[in-house]
Amino acid sequence: MFANPRNAAAGSLRQLDPQITAERKLSLWAYTWGEVSEQMWQTQEEFFAKLEQWGFPINPLNKVCHSVAEIEQNFNHIMEVRSSLTYDIDGVVYKVNDINLQERLGFLTRTPRWAVAHKFPAEQALTRVQNIRIQVGRTGALTPVADLEPVNIGGVMVAHATLHNEDEIKRKDIRIGDMVVVQRAGDVIPQIVEVKLSERPADSQPFAFPTICPECGAHAVREENQAIRRCSGGLTCPAQVKERIKHFVSKEAFDIVGFGDKVVEEFCRDGILHDPADIFTLEERNQKVEALDLFSVAQNDGLRLEEREGWGTLSVKRMFKAIRERKKMALNRFIFALGIPLIGTTTALLLAKNFISFDALQKEMTAKDMTKLLSIDGIGKEMAMELEAFFAEEHNLNIIKKLRTYVQVEEYIQDEEVTTVLSDKTIVFTGTLEHMTRFEAKALAQKCGAKVAGSVSAHTDYVVVGADAGSKAKKAEELGVKMLSEEEFVQLTQKA
Ligand SMILES: [Zn+2]
Repeated sequence: MFANPRNAAAGSLRQLDPQITAERKLSLWAYTWGEVSEQMWQTQEEFFAKLEQWGFPINPLNKVCHSVAEIEQNFNHIMEVRSSLTYDIDGVVYKVNDINLQERLGFLTRTPRWAVAHKFPAEQALTRVQNIRIQVGRTGALTPVADLEPVNIGGVMVAHATLHNEDEIKRKDIRIGDMVVVQRAGDVIPQIVEVKLSERPADSQPFAFPTICPECGAHAVREENQAIRRCSGGLTCPAQVKERIKHFVSKEAFDIVGFGDKVVEEFCRDGILHDPADIFTLEERNQKVEALDLFSVAQNDGLRLEEREGWGTLSVKRMFKAIRERKKMALNRFIFALGIPLIGTTTALLLAKNFISFDALQKEMTAKDMTKLLSIDGIGKEMAMELEAFFAEEHNLNIIKKLRTYVQVEEYIQDEEVTTVLSDKTIVFTGTLEHMTRFEAKALAQKCGAKVAGSVSAHTDYVVVGADAGSKAKKAEELGVKMLSEEEFVQLTQKA
């Protein structure tokens, strides 16, 4: 028995034995392509026609719509026929039909700008809150979670729901023992919609949110105007250390192969890891051999990871090799790995491009002057505050120092093939451009190795002036910064 069709399909495909997969009677609707040597279609519609011609099954509900009204009509139609379909769906995906337009729109970090999912309204069920637990996250945020009497919602057993934060519990007055309406929509974590007050037990008490971290006992503080209460234990709080290390070794950070969540949990639990830097001393600590006495009898006082349950000589060797391979690290990955709140992969790359070396970044962050940071297009005030707070914390600086004794953080290098006259130049755009959107212009400049800033300063090399330019053009004139027309800018991007 499977909990739902998604798990059944995914589980079947993950089987190591293809025979078992073959027995599962999976079927598919083809809907997209991966790599193609020659693209023989200009639109999504033509692509579906090709698929059909080649014998792939395509969904008969695919439809080209020409207006928002038609899209809405189609959505309602699919919602009506949903229950009569022989498969489970949770919504509709809209795609831009024209492939050229798709390419022009491009991607955000993970998601395309030319496709969007429209989910059906959430499914709900009634159940009881058995307990309210407090989880401590990687950044120290105390997050309340409701343990529920397990209930089936749209084919999925739900036993937990997020309560978001302190205010949310207070606002909805959710208490242990309450009957509540729970809903889930798509893959999002189930939520409590409302409390059935008529069924509240007579002896029920409002939930008292803890002011002490349940993991380490440090004070949990709530800053003014902040919804979240955070443990102040920093890197000494076991919950934060564990989550920080998991983040540190994750795919987009240090990407240490074979160092999954389970390994981190095990090593933290047994006191082998206390901070991310400890990863790089594992091999040395494992081999530690101490001479006992005059007879030079050696005693192995190391960690003996090979002798641990579930480990062997080979897997330990492999892990050490994977760690050794990460003793040189790209600047952007290193920044992301630190787990600074709000600093994701895109922002980390932006910082790497603008500061080139970690020393330069750290110097700027500890300078108590955020002017340069805030002049970077894409860095907002909240991000700047998080960065400043992170680098103001002594614990964090110590960990960085320790890490850098083992890890060489490489300077950021622009792609070699794109050395142009604009490489390393700082450009500011102002006014309306005629032949491209502001976004396209920025992308073009960045492709040529230029940095794009949001405001004009003495660091600015060029200001590209479009129609109806305002104060930025004036400022450039005052500072004597070279101004370019859109045409001149395009010409520069073509010069090697
Ligand atoms: Zn704590």
